[in-house]
Amino acid sequence: MTHTTDHNLALFERAKLVIPGGVNSPVRAFKAVGGTPRFVKRAQGAYFWDANDSRYIDYIGSWGPMILGHGHPAVVKAVQEAVLEGFSFGAPTEREIELVEEILRLVPSMDMVRLVSSGTEAAMSAIRLARGATGRSKLIKFEGCYHGHADALLVKAGSGLATFGNATSAGVPPEVVQHTLVLEYNNVAQLEEAFTLHGKEIACLMIEPIAGNMNFVRASVPFVKRCRELCSQYDALLVFDEVMNGFRVALGSAQSVYARQIPGFEPDMTVMGKVIGGGMPLAAFGAKRKVMEQLAPLGAVYQAGTLSGNPVATACGLATLREISKPGFFEDLSRKTRSLVDGLKAAAAAEGVPFSADSEGGMFGFFLLAELPQNYPQVMKTDSGRFNQLFHGLLDRGVYIAPALYEAGFVSAAHSDADIAATVAAAREVFKLL
Ligand SMILES: *Cc1c(COP(=O)(O)O)cnc(C)c1O
Repeated sequence: MTHTTDHNLALFERAKLVIPGGVNSPVRAFKAVGGTPRFVKRAQGAYFWDANDSRYIDYIGSWGPMILGHGHPAVVKAVQEAVLEGFSFGAPTEREIELVEEILRLVPSMDMVRLVSSGTEAAMSAIRLARGATGRSKLIKFEGCYHGHADALLVKAGSGLATFGNATSAGVPPEVVQHTLVLEYNNVAQLEEAFTLHGKEIACLMIEPIAGNMNFVRASVPFVKRCRELCSQYDALLVFDEVMNGFRVALGSAQSVYARQIPGFEPDMTVMGKVIGGGMPLAAFGAKRKVMEQLAPLGAVYQAGTLSGNPVATACGLATLREISKPGFFEDLSRKTRSLVDGLKAAAAAEGVPFSADSEGGMFGFFLLAELPQNYPQVMKTDSGRFNQLFHGLLDRGVYIAPALYEAGFVSAAHSDADIAATVAAAREVFKLL
């Protein structure tokens, strides 16, 4: 072992006494892969250092936000300046307008945006707004997509086709999820059947366009096209949950990727988070003016937040969006991410390991499966024992990927070609052992 875990272990034991599972978000606990979570001391560029001062090449980047890498000088400067002006006012600031104007410039499907503090809050508020705007109760989501932990969205598929779901968490009463219909991702026939049965009662269909919460599964172009057509036909709102994809897979977010293939394509509502805060608590949801004007204080749909549009978070997000808007940023990030994916595929092939991988912009996923999966049941065919071996093999070699097989990976602008080559070399060593 090149990395001992003593200090991490000591911190984990201490944390477990006072924080449930020792962590403030479950997947950090390494429950799926076993072993001791790495407690981060500091991070810079493409790396972080744990409590033992061991260095890791970081492919999580705070689960996506750190698209520039850690401690980007322009972002640090913007945050430092903002902090000196004050942490929070509970009154509006000019920077909130600047950030929203920047978001609207990059994602023109929206006319107006409201800023909130987490992706969960944004998705929850988007659903309330969709229900308020349509006067309907039901919503469609897809198995394997995560939209935060609001009650109505913590639902797994029902037992039969187009049946309403069951809660995936204790503490969610059945009445709260009775309006949530969970369908199979990329299944056009099931989608059509759901609209035929319930179309006039559906407020919205929420989808992760490139689903990063089942590792990396693209919604197929025909599937997205059908989602769009059916929502229009039944006056339901098509909600793109771009919390992970937004400003990560392309400057125009995932909707721009689909608009390239479906002429005129736009979602009705967009949910954002992660990259827009650049690592600070910031998220957003937006839509056309007619829908957004239903929100308080203009309309009857209530939504609020003490720290919404926080001045330090908006400074961080704005500086981040300005950096990623620079010419060539996404071309370079996409090329690097693609080279990682291609390198991993070649290494797996050389060692005879069944493997598939894909990427878009700075987001990637790989599977210990010969073919890229199309939906959640296919993702779950991955042998978790082998994945855990791969995870720990990489961790021991200083490469940090998500500690669960159903999570995506992220490359930042700070990752060098040498970091990627080192990652591929480490992966090849581990593939040899599988
Ligand atoms: C991360 C994520 C969320 C939840 O965001 P939080 O800020 O963790 O509440 C919602 N939707 C998607 C697609 C996400 O990836």
